[in-house]
Amino acid sequence: MSDNLLGVYNRAPLVVDRGEGSWLYDVDGNRWLDCVMGIATDGLGHAHPKLVAALEAQAKKLWHVSNIFRIPGQEALAQRLIDSTFADVVFFGNSGSEAIEGALKTARRYHFVNGAPERIDVIGFAGSFHGRTYAAVNASGNASYLEGFGPRLPGYVQLTLDDEAGIAEAIARPTTAAVIVEPVQGEGGARALTGEWLKRVRDLCTQHGVLLIYDEVQSGMGRTGKLFAHQWFEGVEPDIMAIAKALGGGFPIGAFLATKEAAKGMVVGTHGSTFGGNPLAMAVGIAAFDEIAKEETLAHARAIAAELVEQLNALKDKHSDLIVEVRGKGMLIGLKLVPNNREFMALARDHGILVAGGGENSVRLLPSLLLSSAEAAEVVTRLDAAFADARTRLAKAA
Ligand code: PMP
Repeated sequence: MSDNLLGVYNRAPLVVDRGEGSWLYDVDGNRWLDCVMGIATDGLGHAHPKLVAALEAQAKKLWHVSNIFRIPGQEALAQRLIDSTFADVVFFGNSGSEAIEGALKTARRYHFVNGAPERIDVIGFAGSFHGRTYAAVNASGNASYLEGFGPRLPGYVQLTLDDEAGIAEAIARPTTAAVIVEPVQGEGGARALTGEWLKRVRDLCTQHGVLLIYDEVQSGMGRTGKLFAHQWFEGVEPDIMAIAKALGGGFPIGAFLATKEAAKGMVVGTHGSTFGGNPLAMAVGIAAFDEIAKEETLAHARAIAAELVEQLNALKDKHSDLIVEVRGKGMLIGLKLVPNNREFMALARDHGILVAGGGENSVRLLPSLLLSSAEAAEVVTRLDAAFADARTRLAKAA
């Protein structure tokens, strides 16, 4: 392991070199079936030819200019997002955390310009993850992200997803600004909320003048087989939504979307970014959007996800002593395990497949949306072998 990098990551001993579609290669030419995909970021797999072409063409033209100028790519990508969602306006940044920061600022500022500056409280949920910046760790549901980084900032309230009465009471408080929630929890372990849950919270927010923020950083951009996970349900649209990850197909892009009403406080001088939405990012983002948003891609992702989940459920029956549950939505799949999930990830790697970790001792499968049927079968074959191995080799999780 290298000691010249800050030691904040628990890195696998895999020295990456290149990627092609669903496969990741190391410097020695070994390859793995990649079901991590940059944690749901390389939505179209590695080195998609249309993304490579867009990047190369833009690289020769213009990389970066300040947001003091009009950037046509931003307007084009914003319009695509607006045409396919609830939103009226878009702000581009560079990461999921930045998208969350912008969303939270927008919510507080809305109440400020409405003459209710006391509305600062943001309600978040246990098991959620919203990023590593200050506001994001405060909004996140896992207190360990905050440990040693000072007291929780004022205005962040934590509840559990099943605390119906507590949620209703908190939304009704006169100091509440917003609710922030992932329609499918990612890091929490592929936990999908129901349409009823989202509708109840949407209606409560509307009733009490509270803004609803969705964090679709991980669940968005086709991951669940719809462009955005909340679009599986009617009548649950948010006021603000943070997105990132697959939006850039591997190029760092984040964005938050809002209705005109929710964004009304965000006037000149209230927010900004040097790199956000630069021409290089926008060229790749547009190419990624046009591929992912195609009905053909989304239908493919839904079909392959259905195949995978059926086969994974059969695997669960076969290894019922090791797999507790198959869950998630679309291509955001979680396997809740009996053996320690971190140890299982290493074992899976030995069997030529890469999976991501998750909360509640789960592993996540976040393959390319373009995963083929044959590759999906290969995922199951490799996991089957890894589970057979796990039975003899791995300790049970505490
Ligand atoms: N929100 C969610 C739901 C995420 O999954 C992540 C990243 N895993 C983030 C926010 C933070 O994104 P980033 O790492 O790009 O800052």
